[in-house]
Amino acid sequence: MTAASNASTKAATATTTTASTSDLLTDEYFMGLALAEARAAAAEDEIPIGAIVVAGNRVLGRGHNQTERLGDVTAHAEMLAISAAAQTLGSKYLRGCTLYVTVEPCPMCAGAIGWSQLDRIVVGAADDKRGYTSILRPGASPFHPRAAVVTGIREDECRSLMQDFFRAKRVK
Ligand SMILES: [Zn+2]
Repeated sequence: MTAASNASTKAATATTTTASTSDLLTDEYFMGLALAEARAAAAEDEIPIGAIVVAGNRVLGRGHNQTERLGDVTAHAEMLAISAAAQTLGSKYLRGCTLYVTVEPCPMCAGAIGWSQLDRIVVGAADDKRGYTSILRPGASPFHPRAAVVTGIREDECRSLMQDFFRAKRVK
């Protein structure tokens, strides 16, 4: 995997695990890291969505929603994770990388995922209202033609974080 080997020389902001690429950690494991980001968002009173970008077993970028803190509607978890990964790799393209995100990306983030040429997108919970699939033409995809999409990884945990957050908001 070329992206991973390129990345190994620029590990400043990346977390390196000990497993080799022949011993890949599972999607469930990496979604757990995205969930940790989502919980960090909740702790900051941000909508609890987290994302990480991985190549091989290396985390190249992380992000959680920070639209309130930054006063920036584009500060979604995916956008921040993609920017961080590009900085780690020293490349605007994230070929050979997987994005894990706890909630289905919105159309803006789906566009960014497409531009970055990410190879795999792994989603926790669907978002029927704001997710990119809600505006998709049948048979169309915002992603790179080669990209694979996996959904429903640790779906219940990803969804309950969102439900708990909005339920608490309503009670306030
Ligand atoms: Zn988004």
